[in-house]
Amino acid sequence: MSRSTLLPVLTLPNPLVLLPTARIQLSLDEAVGTRLIELVQRSEVQLVIGTVPCTSPTTIHQWGTAARVVRVVRPISRSSQRVYHVTLHGLSRIHYPDTSSGPFAPNELIELQAEYPPADGPPSPESIAPFRAAASKLLDSLAQDATQQSRRDVYVKISHMIEEVSDDRAPWMADVIVAGINKIEYADKLEYLSAAGSDDRLRRATELFVKQASITEVTKKIAQSIDESLSKQQKEFFLRQQLAAIQRELNNLNRSSGAPIVGAPGSAPSSGSSSELDDNEQSEADDMAEIRAKIEAMAKDSEERKMAVREWKRLQRIPSGSVEHGVIRNYLEWLTSIPWPSSAAYANAASTDKLKDRAFLANARKQLDEDHYGLEKIKKRLIEYLAVVRLKQLQAEREAPADTALVPFTPPANAEPEGGNKSHRRVEGADAEAKDEVKDRRLVKVPHPANQPTPAPKQKRGFAAKAVKGPILLFVGPPGTGKTSLGQSIARALDRPFQRISLGGVRDEAEIRGHRRTYVASGPGSIVQALRKAGRPDPVILLDEVDKIGQSNFHGDPAAALLEVLDPEQNHSFNDHYINVPIDLSQVLFICTSNSLETISAPLLDRCEIVQLSGYTYDEKMHIANKFLLPKQLKANGLTPDHVTLTQPALMHIATHYTREAGVRSLERAIGAVVRYKAVEWAEYSDATGITDVASLPSLEVQEKSKGKTYKKLVEEHELEKILGIARWDEEELHREERRGLVYGLVVTGMGEGGILPIETTAVPGTGQLKLTGSLGEVIKESGELALSWVKSHAYDLYITKLRSQDPLKFPEPIDIHLHLPSGAVKKDGPSAGIAMTCAFVSLLTGACVPANVAMTGEVTLRGRVGPVGGIKEKVLGAHRAQVTKVILPWANRKDVEHDVPLAVRAEMQFVFVRTMEEVLEAAFGKGVLNWRGNMVVMESRL
Ligand code: ADP
Repeated sequence: MSRSTLLPVLTLPNPLVLLPTARIQLSLDEAVGTRLIELVQRSEVQLVIGTVPCTSPTTIHQWGTAARVVRVVRPISRSSQRVYHVTLHGLSRIHYPDTSSGPFAPNELIELQAEYPPADGPPSPESIAPFRAAASKLLDSLAQDATQQSRRDVYVKISHMIEEVSDDRAPWMADVIVAGINKIEYADKLEYLSAAGSDDRLRRATELFVKQASITEVTKKIAQSIDESLSKQQKEFFLRQQLAAIQRELNNLNRSSGAPIVGAPGSAPSSGSSSELDDNEQSEADDMAEIRAKIEAMAKDSEERKMAVREWKRLQRIPSGSVEHGVIRNYLEWLTSIPWPSSAAYANAASTDKLKDRAFLANARKQLDEDHYGLEKIKKRLIEYLAVVRLKQLQAEREAPADTALVPFTPPANAEPEGGNKSHRRVEGADAEAKDEVKDRRLVKVPHPANQPTPAPKQKRGFAAKAVKGPILLFVGPPGTGKTSLGQSIARALDRPFQRISLGGVRDEAEIRGHRRTYVASGPGSIVQALRKAGRPDPVILLDEVDKIGQSNFHGDPAAALLEVLDPEQNHSFNDHYINVPIDLSQVLFICTSNSLETISAPLLDRCEIVQLSGYTYDEKMHIANKFLLPKQLKANGLTPDHVTLTQPALMHIATHYTREAGVRSLERAIGAVVRYKAVEWAEYSDATGITDVASLPSLEVQEKSKGKTYKKLVEEHELEKILGIARWDEEELHREERRGLVYGLVVTGMGEGGILPIETTAVPGTGQLKLTGSLGEVIKESGELALSWVKSHAYDLYITKLRSQDPLKFPEPIDIHLHLPSGAVKKDGPSAGIAMTCAFVSLLTGACVPANVAMTGEVTLRGRVGPVGGIKEKVLGAHRAQVTKVILPWANRKDVEHDVPLAVRAEMQFVFVRTMEEVLEAAFGKGVLNWRGNMVVMESRL
């Protein structure tokens, strides 16, 4: 039976909970304090009041603790602080049946109806055993972790008590322990307070202990692992420091005794057992010293030096062997290996001597002639280019003779005496003469702009002041026409290092600009890599295949990055994401190459000066093969001209039957194959006979007489099939046939190579439709339709139809026309096949054939006018290679033939320049082959 009574109850502020057996001290305000004193004084026995936790500022918990008021302390004086201190001792749980009469506030004395729960029997053994176990475990771990001895003793004592305490005192013990652990959460404590039954109390206490023990364990583990890793790092750091110190001492010792440093580069190992693999520490130290020296060599106050110093300091703080250390070191290696134009090491590296040479241009011309045959116009253009580079460089040098500009001396009002300015920077490379000059001509050195506190004049740092902004050359032409090797020749002529960056298929901006350092395995882009390889700030960098660079995509915009590289206005501060310090590229001479101009973006084209290389005639190819390719291949394969002689007809056969290209790359490959074949033959012969010197090679008859192995120097045309296999181009020539509906057009492929393209048409039963196939683009399709319309409108005049109103595709039989351009997988576009398609339709519908030696190109309008087209030189050379003898070209393209097509080719071909479709038909089919009804004037006005 529970007893109900009205009690004065003290509300405890959150998070205070008084559990039975526990003691607390509270501070109360004057009103509550004085009331409590009144109650104490009125009570005959020791006063017992209720306590109840306030779960929120206005509500109270349903369970509380009856507490003995042990002590109430009045404030010492009647000062402003009116705080009463009360000590309470928890006795037993009490229940407040009605807690809804609020609102309640903390630290108040209220009157509440309270019930004492009935006395509970002894707890069941099922709840006692786990309780004891959990409590012991928790107390043991608390004792272990306790930092103070006294606390540890208390925990141990309680732990003993748990083992000894009787079963019916176990719930009391639970109260003692729960009250004693201050890490238990408020909600858990409230819940525990509500557990009136002894079993319930033990169960909740057990849960709390288990929870607490696992929290402690986890916390302990985390702390331990942090501790471990920290101590390992510290240990490693100290050990490495010690190691470095020992190494230093040893080095000093060795140096002072004059003995070679063991493991130092170049020194002989002191004992047989040491090897370069043991030199880790030493080479590490050497590397670091090298990086340090390079940083020191960087220009003072330069961005790159500041960055390098910052990173160097970071590096010193990080234990070597850590990942971070490797990353920073790698970065520093890159940063210091870039040839910074401002650096003292490169300040005088520019090869101006070569440019100053009066014979520079003549030498350059010689160099170009030595490396390349023909290409007269291009060489002329390159010489002009080099002349501009030279003039600009010399002019720039005259303006800024050294790193520090010399200006006439005009003493300012508060001028320091000469030489008093300590901040003057030493002039790199300035010798005694320069100093004399200062005295004599009353010139003073102006401090380096970078050292000036006031804004520097618009002159770039150090070497950059001499920047030469020559035009950027863009070599356009088919593969193998010598674009790359011309770039190399220019570099040789200027005596600068040459680097090539291939841009074909570059889709990711990071390939040009580098990855940011946050990336795993990040590194600089191709420009920085090329600069490092060149080792000088002024190399010639060839950007190969700029037409094949990717446009803007989700990896960034590589073309835009390239623009920044090439733009003379921007490239003095090129930003590589990895290096992250602006790099001055204004010294670099960029040369671009591309196969065609079509896919190059307009802004990029705008920055370049285009130099067209359009391929070689057979005659030129023969010269190149004789003078350059054959000697090169012989040398590459360890033979001399005495070993192999290719007859001229054999060379020509290779050029005409084994290659069909504008350039000479396949030709070079084929010659290489022949030379290798001969090399094997020679090796076998020389092994068999013991003759190693080609000069002592007996004549063929003598060789044959000896009945052994034979070796013949001469390679003749008929042997080529044995060496190179069956010729690739024989068949196509045979297949070029004269046929109804078939006409040969002229094309330029994506590679910039010219050639002939058959245009096939055929009539099939149908409904008057035109079908176009062969991967055709919009423009070429339209010009096909246009051609057919022209033929339809002239069908009557060409005697295709009997009446002007008849559609040739419907009368006499309804047909469809199918036009196909072979090599169906290759994309074709452009208007230049217009006249060829018209001729094909005319041939199909009239039955007359265009001879197979005729090829044509030109755009046709609806009125039958023939418009000019591009790529004439490539197309004509392509036609020449295909052994076409008559070429029909637009009238407006006459100048292109005159200017671009070599005389030798012009002499071998017949050119017909046409203005109208009628002229085309006459030239293509032959005079008088097609019948005309005449009176074209009426036709035209009708159109
Ligand atoms: P591209 O860069 O235009 O594709 P390359 O410069 O690589 O062509 O030239 C291919 C090869 O042809 C090189 O070995 C080069 O020396 C040679 N070559 C090209 N044109 C000439 C020429 N006019 N005279 C001598 N050799 C040439």
